[in-house]
Amino acid sequence: MIEGGIIKITGPVVVADGMRGCRMYDVVRVGELGLIGEVIRVEKDEAVIQVYEDTSGLRVGEKVISTEAPLKVKLGPGLLESIYDGVQRPLPALAEQSGEFIRRGAEASGLSSTRKWLFKPTVKAGDAVVAGDVVGTTMETTNVEHRILVPPYVEGGTIKEILEGEFTVDEAICTLEDGTTLSMAQEWPVRQGRPFGKKLDPTVPFITGMRVLDTFFPIAQGGNAIIPGGFGTGKTVTEQSLAKWCDAEIIVYIGCGERGNEMTEVLAEFPHLEDPKSGVKLMERTILIANTSNMPVAAREASIYTGITLAEYYRDMGYNVAMMADSTSRWGEALREVSGRLEEMPGEEGYPAYLATRLANFYERAGRVECLGTDSRQGSVTVVGAVSPPGGDFSEPMTQNSLRISGAFWALDTSLAHRRHFPAISWTKSYSLYLDQIKDWFGDEVAADWKELRDKAMFLLQKETELQEIVQLVGPDALPESEKAILEVTRMIREDYLQQFAFHEVDAFCSPQKQYWMLKAILAFYDAIVAALSRGVGLSQVFELPLKTDVARMKEVPHDIALEDLRKLTSRITEDIAALEVL
Ligand code: ADP
Repeated sequence: MIEGGIIKITGPVVVADGMRGCRMYDVVRVGELGLIGEVIRVEKDEAVIQVYEDTSGLRVGEKVISTEAPLKVKLGPGLLESIYDGVQRPLPALAEQSGEFIRRGAEASGLSSTRKWLFKPTVKAGDAVVAGDVVGTTMETTNVEHRILVPPYVEGGTIKEILEGEFTVDEAICTLEDGTTLSMAQEWPVRQGRPFGKKLDPTVPFITGMRVLDTFFPIAQGGNAIIPGGFGTGKTVTEQSLAKWCDAEIIVYIGCGERGNEMTEVLAEFPHLEDPKSGVKLMERTILIANTSNMPVAAREASIYTGITLAEYYRDMGYNVAMMADSTSRWGEALREVSGRLEEMPGEEGYPAYLATRLANFYERAGRVECLGTDSRQGSVTVVGAVSPPGGDFSEPMTQNSLRISGAFWALDTSLAHRRHFPAISWTKSYSLYLDQIKDWFGDEVAADWKELRDKAMFLLQKETELQEIVQLVGPDALPESEKAILEVTRMIREDYLQQFAFHEVDAFCSPQKQYWMLKAILAFYDAIVAALSRGVGLSQVFELPLKTDVARMKEVPHDIALEDLRKLTSRITEDIAALEVL
């Protein structure tokens, strides 16, 4: 056993001696209370430990015991619907043990040891299995089938015996010829990515149902995006709408509240959210990780890794998983605080020089993969990380470093939020690097001219920005009719297309097909105006037609009739404007 003693305490960082033999990232129990910590530096027989619990009251001389294993999570049925802290302790179980204020050093297993699951084997005695193969299933929640996998660290072999029936996660359900037993649970160290067969190209879009994202700045399944935005610009609302509507089967939501009560809100609200697709509770396909405010900042560091490991586990079963982190800035601050305590050479704004590498290592764990195992299964982890730059200033290190590695940048704009243009995602500052890889999917599944339409709308929006500068100088009347027409059409794009109220009964989600037809109608308007103007028809004549209100109402048309309605509206726009006579 490796047992040492505390020689120094600075906030969440503790130094212990007598720790010869301990390794980086081994989990240790610190002090009489047995606080959970991780070794983050080893020098001879001294270990520097990052403690995930409040260290107040801890004294020099108290003992430190190494568990001689890295921080691991327990994976198996029962993860869904759970609310964990950053080191996978279920918060409800902790609260039961110690009341509202979680007792320090409390222990609670990530999975219930008594709950039984009905296990149905999918292989039989005599079958050969390898790491990653599915040996059976259990229904974890109403709609989610949990596939029991041969763990990556088990080489595989021939099945000697496999049982069927109700078991706890720790009971053996399968024995291999070489004597290896498998249960429904497995463990995995959080700082290490779970292995997979091979990484696949990001060619399938991750549909969010938000027009500004899917049409203008789409991401791929297995991609990553960051949402930077100042306070009150809509990070939380966007992350929650994504959780509800995106086309992932499993959601892992990590909350690092900016203010204490914010996480409480998420914890109070999330369990009541209904899954709009199935009608059951959203929690039935969600895992929540909450960094409560009474845990020190260092715990946020662990929560990011815990979260992505849980996400990878469901990916390995063949699911599309979305992981949301709100907000990753809090994680950066944890790194900064610990680095400061370690007296490391500070980089920009006090962040450690390795901030960029840490961020890259984390975002790299996103991806669409061919899963491990003999049957061909594909799964993905898509990561959406919110960033909250102080004062909404995107030039700060967390935003800049995240930007360099993320495939899409969804910039929330304070002035749009002030004008109540929601989602306040800027079309001038945002970008997506996935467009070229997923345009073919939209071309095949939605419409051949999808990309053309999208680019044209984008072009008009850019043109609007230029025109508005002129308008500010000389007033709108100085513009020729053709440019006034652009301003009118881009107003439609902004108000009738880009604005989307997250809580609207119909418009909270918009299918890619409906998105296409809405844009088609607006751009048909533009083309028809251009043609009319060239015939000598006046712009005011066009706008006297009762078409504008129909365009404004498009978003509220229920999905089942929307496509038909929009097709008709598009033809009506073209025909009615073409029928106008020169006065
Ligand atoms: P942040 O997390 O960036 O501080 P929030 O997500 O809490 O900001 O958003 C602040 C407010 O903005 C919300 O309470 C809501 O009123 C409004 N809001 C943000 N996004 C939307 C949206 N898509 N639809 C409607 N309202 C929104």
